[in-house]
Amino acid sequence: MGHGVRPRVWEIERDQLTDEFLNEWDQWLAAGNESPDMHYLKDRNRGMILLLLDKIQETGSNKYIPYLRAWEKIDYKKVRARIREVIRDIESDVSVDQQAAADRADSINEAMKGLEPHDIDLRCIECGNYFTFSVGEQRFYQRMGFVHPRRCPSCREQRDLEFL
Ligand SMILES: [Zn+2]
Repeated sequence: MGHGVRPRVWEIERDQLTDEFLNEWDQWLAAGNESPDMHYLKDRNRGMILLLLDKIQETGSNKYIPYLRAWEKIDYKKVRARIREVIRDIESDVSVDQQAAADRADSINEAMKGLEPHDIDLRCIECGNYFTFSVGEQRFYQRMGFVHPRRCPSCREQRDLEFL
């Protein structure tokens, strides 16, 4: 068994919920909805909201920018600042971000495809340090239908404290 920290259940639920939100955005976009009411995102769990913004940032896709702008208008200061950051990041270099995200996903899939399960080093999107994604954690994530954690354990911890 791996010795890594087991992801907590609420972390997993948060991950699932943010995926659902993003799917919903995709559906709205596909349906041509240009300005959905973003108030439903206000007063949600802050950690979940930040994770959603991380995921949007990771897609590097500028199709979300109109929604981000609409959301920015109605949310609180801290969230607004993060939304602006994501917009700036997406606008600054869309193609590079998308390529980086695709490369990362590929290398993780490649690493997990091996016949012998093994620990994988992942790079934290926040501090850039590498951390171990143990075989035990991989099984757990896989069972829950998730791919991989994006942050190292200490950044996860730090983030939770910051937004309490
Ligand atoms: Zn980190």
